[in-house]
Amino acid sequence: MRSLLWLRDDLRVADNPALRAACERGEVLPLYILEDDSAGIRPLGGAARWWLHHSLRELADSFQQLGAQLVLRRGQAAEIIPELIDEHDIDAVFWNRRYGGPERAVDAELKSSLREAGLTAESFQANLLFEPWQLKTGSGGHYKVFTPFWRACLEQPEPRQPLAAPATVQGVSGVKGEALERWELLPTRPDWSGGLAEQWTPGETGATQGLEDFLDRHAEGYAVERDNPGIEATSRLSPHLRFGELSPFQVWHALRRTAAVAHEDSRVFISEIGWREFCWHLLYHHPDLASQNYRPEFDNFAWQPSSESELRAWQQGRTGYPMVDAGMRQLWQSGWMHNRVRMIVASFLVKNLLIDWRVGEKWFWDTLVDADAANNPANWQWVAGSGADASPYFRIFNPVTQSKKFDAEGSYLRRFLPELAEFDSKLIHEPWKAQPQLDESTEQEASYPVPIVELAASRQRALAAYDAMRGSD
Ligand code: FAD
Repeated sequence: MRSLLWLRDDLRVADNPALRAACERGEVLPLYILEDDSAGIRPLGGAARWWLHHSLRELADSFQQLGAQLVLRRGQAAEIIPELIDEHDIDAVFWNRRYGGPERAVDAELKSSLREAGLTAESFQANLLFEPWQLKTGSGGHYKVFTPFWRACLEQPEPRQPLAAPATVQGVSGVKGEALERWELLPTRPDWSGGLAEQWTPGETGATQGLEDFLDRHAEGYAVERDNPGIEATSRLSPHLRFGELSPFQVWHALRRTAAVAHEDSRVFISEIGWREFCWHLLYHHPDLASQNYRPEFDNFAWQPSSESELRAWQQGRTGYPMVDAGMRQLWQSGWMHNRVRMIVASFLVKNLLIDWRVGEKWFWDTLVDADAANNPANWQWVAGSGADASPYFRIFNPVTQSKKFDAEGSYLRRFLPELAEFDSKLIHEPWKAQPQLDESTEQEASYPVPIVELAASRQRALAAYDAMRGSD
């Protein structure tokens, strides 16, 4: 018997239930489709396209070693899959579930048409520990607040053990696919991906190694150190989880097995995996999370029409606030930013510059290697105050206070702001106070910008806009 395995956000051979089911039946045709946006699926941003290229390259190698060829096609699943079924005598199709609105519509329609045609079509739980429909509040609705959501998750039976990778996969020969290079996922003219390549190893091997490194070196102390952007204290597993090179089941059980990690570190880390589950829970129940305010009263919020020069200063890391600028440059150079700094730069855009959170969300979508259809909009809305269980709008991060608190010595700032490398650890957080140091510095160092907005005044402006919105309810 021949099965088609449709791979999507699960680019791995270990802990892959759809692959396991296909292997148990006989021959397997593994397929990845670069879906076009005709079904409303959000096209990948630039950094994610770079990641996808490398991840698929490794996945193709893994399948080759196991005995099968990964077939690449571009277009719509509803056309490509029936075509392959006819051409290659396929009688079953398997995939692991995805949870975005347009994606679910594609999958549901395909499943019912395959079943109507008499084929086996099965989907599996592989990318979330808890299915979004499985968790209901006492009144039968979905969760809107993280703490009770996560408590309810932890009361469920423990997530299943991860599955081993198959020892071999019996492939189907003679299937025509496209060459990965033809998809042009990598940037050219200019090729801006050098910094990404230095930092990351996309693919299942890098993901597994990343998890091991985290457990060996950084998990101990995570609860305390995770907020310090100057040290490598978090797992950096986000892009691997985003592309499904690693499953949350593997993470959960690896952590449980690692006795050396203190209870508190383990609890806090797993609750971050819980935030990922919560964001997907929200997206499942609010498929337009990236475009619509979760709290509709924010539809009346008076965002400023985004000033080109302010937006550009934010994107390029030239706002004059070192913590904001270091974060935005880290993002541009490496496709990733520390979580604490993501919150600071997002708050600065939305509150101090009064620019609509959707503008920032889109920039992150294009520049993050871990750009995630649920985590990104849910966190932007959390910072903006328009989201579920959001940080209250009136709580406005002060980038200077945050900088002093979480990067007291300025080591993170120095790493990304060479202009400030010589500044002492007091003045580096507020370089505009350091006229003598600026005067002594070289021309390049002196080019660090003065602040583009004043913190106290922009804070007052944001609070006034918030009050006006509440007044208009
Ligand atoms: P760790 O601290 O090691 O956490 C482990 C894993 O838990 C992460 O890999 C991630 O999968 C999950 N996680 C951690 N924090 C969160 C969170 N707040 N929400 C959801 N899941 C979380 N994360 C993304 O994966 N993709 C995004 O597009 C994304 N956009 C964000 C935008 C903003 C404005 C903010 C404030 C946060 C965003 N996050 C996003 C969440 C968080 O910043 C990253 O997941 C984290 O920084 C990734 O680093 P890590 O893997 O070292 O995290």
